[in-house]
Amino acid sequence: CGIIGVVGNVNATQVLLKGLERLEYRGYDSAGIFVHDRHSGGQLIKEVGRIKRLEAKVPATLTGTLGIGHTRWATNGKPTIANAHPHVSADGRFYLVHNGVLQNVAALRDQYLADVTMASDTDTEVAVQLLARFVQEGATVTDALRHVMQLVDGSYAFALADRDDGDTLYVAKNKSPLLIGVGDGFNAVGSDALALLDRTHEFMEIHDQELGVLRAGSVQLMDINGQPVSRDTFIVDVSE
Ligand code: GLU
Repeated sequence: CGIIGVVGNVNATQVLLKGLERLEYRGYDSAGIFVHDRHSGGQLIKEVGRIKRLEAKVPATLTGTLGIGHTRWATNGKPTIANAHPHVSADGRFYLVHNGVLQNVAALRDQYLADVTMASDTDTEVAVQLLARFVQEGATVTDALRHVMQLVDGSYAFALADRDDGDTLYVAKNKSPLLIGVGDGFNAVGSDALALLDRTHEFMEIHDQELGVLRAGSVQLMDINGQPVSRDTFIVDVSE
């Protein structure tokens, strides 16, 4: 399973599909992408089986400068299109991809989301519905994501897109692999360096219980309490 995300001066669709191909070796049963588009709000495309099948469903005209992608290895819910990621909040605003397993989603659902009809059987959907709930209650996206991180028990690599903000990609990590790729005019995230090595050789670690706010020209890291974290980048020096 794997995660890919990008924001900035690139063709997001190409970065996502190429990245997903490069993550195929990790194993998966389904895949999906969300590409943000300033006019339509964006497009969500999901498919079971091979990446090639997903690619066949992606219109050649689909371009954008923000996107997230996922290969799923089902843990909560069967491998179906409905359970494939990205998952969307009920208000249609937030798109989330997730690798890992969240243990306490049944309790969180009962406590916070009794009035929300779920579109999937996944733990991941509970996380994105919770995040949307906190934003509806007045939290910033960053604070809502930190709140979700504080509430969930388990492992996650998250990449989150906001339909209402085409300039920002949110990422977070706990006990699942995730690495930030630093580019010239863009920033990206992937489960490993391999996913991004055709785009950049410069990377930044994100540690457990940290959150990243990525824009075309900046990467801001913070801890789960919102305290800024500064971290140097490093070069992965391999020839392709
Ligand atoms: N737990 C999530 C699911 O079942 C993510 C699985 C994964 O890591 O791909 O959808």
